[in-house]
Amino acid sequence: MGSRTIEDYVEEIIQYVEDMDRNSKVVEILYTLLRMLYSSKKKHNLNYWRILQCLGEMATDKMVQVLIRNEKHTCNYHINVSLSAVMKLFAYMLSNVAVIKRVLLFWASLGPVVIKVLNYWNQPELILSGLTIIYRIIIVGRATIIDDLVKNEIEKQLYHILRNKHDSKAFRYFSLVTVKYSTKILHGLSVLGTSRVRHQMKHSLALKILADYTAMLNQESSLKTSEVRNDILSSFSEIKLVLSDESTVQSVQTYWNSKIKLRENLENEVDFIFCSSPSCRRLSNGVDKFRYCGACKLSRYCNTQCQKEHWKKGHKKNCLGESCQ
Ligand SMILES: [Zn+2]
Ligand SMILES: [Zn+2]
Repeated sequence: MGSRTIEDYVEEIIQYVEDMDRNSKVVEILYTLLRMLYSSKKKHNLNYWRILQCLGEMATDKMVQVLIRNEKHTCNYHINVSLSAVMKLFAYMLSNVAVIKRVLLFWASLGPVVIKVLNYWNQPELILSGLTIIYRIIIVGRATIIDDLVKNEIEKQLYHILRNKHDSKAFRYFSLVTVKYSTKILHGLSVLGTSRVRHQMKHSLALKILADYTAMLNQESSLKTSEVRNDILSSFSEIKLVLSDESTVQSVQTYWNSKIKLRENLENEVDFIFCSSPSCRRLSNGVDKFRYCGACKLSRYCNTQCQKEHWKKGHKKNCLGESCQ
């Protein structure tokens, strides 16, 4: 990142995202971000999370608009270059509750776009981003989102994705991760849906094909893939549990409400909360409450001093709450 501030970097990302013809730049950004995430230096790793939080604060609405617009006007070339990269970045961004809540406000128009990308068979990365986004939306949106997804026949989409992975009989890492997110979505539907949804799930083709898949997976014990494999198998056994015994649903739901579950799914939510003031950006120690800006409910501050300072130094102009009214 050199001498640039987090803000400068985020502004640059926003420009690349909005400039459709230069979206290959977004691919470069993704590489840079991943290098930071997996860096052995703590400083770089923390900056990854700072950038994500800042992106969420400054660009959630814009990202949503770009995705809706992009998908509508897209040709195959653009699906390759633009939509895939932007979707991926967007999936990364959905790592905290505040951003996901914001996205939920636009779900009526964004939802169909995300569900539609699950049909792009020649774009496995795009499908995986779509699945990740849907799962993260479920974690926060819960019952309201589930109705919508069921109406949009999400099970059918999942069935096709799972069948495709089942037929290929290849347990490569990427395939496994795709199955993992498909399973997690079925898991979410089973745990958080109504008993009617559970009934529907029980007889769905998606679940049948998943049962076949996990049976095959049980015989595969390659160590390289064991973590993802165990994830899939444990999700599947919990799905079976809640579908066969309605009395277990409530206790599983309670777990889904817990901080442990959030930490498991939304890394940024529990472990990486920063003060949004550019001159501070302090990491929360988990004890002090970092309050949200009341207007956008995205920026958060370690104290009122930081909030006032950020407001004067630009948040007044950028605060999404204000720009949306
Ligand atoms: Zn601060
Ligand atoms: Zn604000």
